[in-house]
Amino acid sequence: MPPFVDLHSHSTASDGSLRPAEVAELAARSGLSAWALTDHDTVGGIAEAQETSRRLGIDFLPGIEVSAEFPPPGTLHILGYGIDPTSASLAEATGQLRHGRDTRNPRIVARLRELGVAITMAEVEAEAGPGMAGGPVIGRPHIAAVLVRKGYVSSIKQAFDKYLAQGGAAYFDKERLSPARAFEVIRQAGGIPVLAHPVQLRMQNSAQLDRIVKDLKDLGLGGIEVLHSDHALADVEACMALARRYNLLMTGGSDFHGAKKKDIALGHVKGQRVPREYYDALVRQLNLRKQ
Ligand code: AMP
Ligand code: ZN
Ligand code: FE
Ligand code: FE
Repeated sequence: MPPFVDLHSHSTASDGSLRPAEVAELAARSGLSAWALTDHDTVGGIAEAQETSRRLGIDFLPGIEVSAEFPPPGTLHILGYGIDPTSASLAEATGQLRHGRDTRNPRIVARLRELGVAITMAEVEAEAGPGMAGGPVIGRPHIAAVLVRKGYVSSIKQAFDKYLAQGGAAYFDKERLSPARAFEVIRQAGGIPVLAHPVQLRMQNSAQLDRIVKDLKDLGLGGIEVLHSDHALADVEACMALARRYNLLMTGGSDFHGAKKKDIALGHVKGQRVPREYYDALVRQLNLRKQ
């Protein structure tokens, strides 16, 4: 069995460019032995991903990536692994997050228009496509793609730098879950909450990061994403040290978004691969809890 996996990926259910079934096919074609779909704030792609993975004989872990409150300039994303996509409390939480986006996205577009950037919500919705049941979770990458297509910026990165990132001319925050609630709904759905890409917390030093991880552990954190496309080698080592110190599972993934992030390939994390052991340890802990 191939020893590599990818535990962080997005599909057209949120801001990836491939359908869940296409990500499953790519995972199998890329020689991965297991993968997880972790769309932003939705479980809409899980059923299709699971079914295709079963057909292709590749192991699959249902996941989600939830947006949680955190002081700027940091971003706090919590991955939930092994969640039950039919969980009622998870559905309530994702509904709330979708509402937060439905409020924010038109504000971004209105500000862009004030700035002379003539795009519409209809164009953004068309960019996101039909998505899965319940419609796609629409995010800034969809707006960025419209800006690129219409020639207002030359790249997704420039769209973020100029307009969409924190501090950009058309940035608006969106309603998120408190970290405690994010952990609660993931646990209630039977999943393990994992701190995504800790480098995006934008902590100033290792003592600050240590403190946050300790606080999150007290709230129920189960793991930490050590391998991620944004992590330099020093970040990987720092996260591994934190995992050992606080007895957290280690996870890793590319944060694949297809054409939305052209430089990221499924199964590849800055020249490294994610070991199968990370997937096995998650599954062991999930099975332990079900007994
Ligand atoms: P949203 O869900 O609307 O808050 O947008 C979050 C998505 O935007 C995530 O997939 C991020 O990876 C992506 N993103 C955030 N900042 C940037 C950036 N500076 N450049 C490219 N993508 C970004
Ligand atoms: Zn994304
Ligand atoms: Fe993220
Ligand atoms: Fe992600």
